[in-house]
Amino acid sequence: MDPYISPSAIRHSSPFLTKAMVASAAEKAPATASGGTRRVLLFPLPFQGHLNPMLQLADVLHARGLRVTVFHAAFNAPDPACRPAGYRFVPVGAGVPTADLVPTGSNADFAGALLRINERLQTPFQNSLREVLEDEEGVPACLVLDSNLRGMQVVADRLGVPTLVLRTGGAACLVAYMAFPALCDKGLLPPQDHSQLNMALDDLPPLQLQDMVFSTTTPHETMTTCLERIVESAKCSSGVILNTFNDLEDVELQKIVDGVCVPVYAIGPLYKISSGAQSSLLSPDQTCLDWLDKQEAQSVLFVSFGSLASMDQEELVETAWGLANSHMPFLWVIRPDAVHGSGKVGLPDGFEEETQGRGMVVSWAPQQDVLGHQAVGGFWTHNGWNSTLESICEGVPMICRPHFADQMINARYVEEVWKVGFELVGKLERGNIERGIRKLLREEEGGEMRRRANDLKDKAIHCIKKGGSSQTMVDLLVNCIMSLPSSI
Ligand code: UDP
Repeated sequence: MDPYISPSAIRHSSPFLTKAMVASAAEKAPATASGGTRRVLLFPLPFQGHLNPMLQLADVLHARGLRVTVFHAAFNAPDPACRPAGYRFVPVGAGVPTADLVPTGSNADFAGALLRINERLQTPFQNSLREVLEDEEGVPACLVLDSNLRGMQVVADRLGVPTLVLRTGGAACLVAYMAFPALCDKGLLPPQDHSQLNMALDDLPPLQLQDMVFSTTTPHETMTTCLERIVESAKCSSGVILNTFNDLEDVELQKIVDGVCVPVYAIGPLYKISSGAQSSLLSPDQTCLDWLDKQEAQSVLFVSFGSLASMDQEELVETAWGLANSHMPFLWVIRPDAVHGSGKVGLPDGFEEETQGRGMVVSWAPQQDVLGHQAVGGFWTHNGWNSTLESICEGVPMICRPHFADQMINARYVEEVWKVGFELVGKLERGNIERGIRKLLREEEGGEMRRRANDLKDKAIHCIKKGGSSQTMVDLLVNCIMSLPSSI
């Protein structure tokens, strides 16, 4: 059976087809039926926004009876203590230089870092994979890789291990990556001048040319190579797994199916179907949940820009006064490395006194619990895919402030497709921030965005229920993993 159910088939096809496919998937998924004894290998990219979904996927597969081995870079390593028995963790590349592997700054060269990670970890991974294949009992079913690790996929191919790739971004983002070469051929990328930037891309609605400029610090050739490898990793795999759900991105999922020619599994939101085990690299401050308990329903703005994006000191000061002047309660995450550039780093004088009792600042939050808390009424986010998906799945509307990579694409979809938020454009300035916060939390427009976000939340809940599209896709994915031929 073709293990792909097209998104439109799930929504629109005859019930017979869907029921038959669902029944067949349930019947053929041996992990569910037998408890399973096969081992699956996984290799996440060593960044928070990539570790989270890969470890959530590991939990989902472990719960279906598969044994799990997680390869991981020696830097930004996940904590094995947070996982149950039956997991094995294998560090890769201890001792490789890492200073230029972690992108920093508001407009970071993520693509350059990805190419260097692949280059530096390839040989150590080959050695580790060989050892694991010799060590472990039984032939592993497959290796699930982050789609940014094409270099590791080449190693797995060489050693005869079948691969699946996990895309930790949205479907729209992969569609945009697939279209990148055609835009270069048309002479649109890299943009020749500033006036082109807001040009609508007819083949990729609602995207504009500027959404495809993932970072101005990355040379065009680096970007091209990086995106080529991501798409190649999908096409050379036995299947692509996406942390999204049909009702959110059905058109984009269909484009991926047509483009990659391998089975596509939309199984998100992964954080909702996994065990909920911790995979934070920083320790979350749980006291903010007690503070939220004391706030009125839907009154608090949650402010967080993920694990990598940063701002300069001037932007930090404007943000602080925008929050203070809005007179709305807020919970603000300021990571230890959240401010870049030289000079004085710190909150402005008088800010603490001004916001006493209605504002809380933490260095890392239990974000999914925060977004699910009834006191939270809005999220000011950088639109990393996990943050965007978590906000949608908790019914929380957004103020968008994308920084780099796929964040501009996600923000465009939030504003123009799902209409569950709006972008704060231009220079960060306290007056604009204050107006944006009031619009989201106090005005009718924000209320409409909240209603739409709640509709999407209901759809997400439906997708992960038994018989829902994401649960069915998990059955099909397990079925696929159990039946992949190995040439080891
Ligand atoms: N996160 C968190 N606490 C925080 C900030 C972020 O747990 O204070 C989590 C968040 O829930 C998400 C991940 O870190 O799962 C960030 O991923 P995302 O794709 O949103 O952004 P990135 O960090 O990759 O830019």
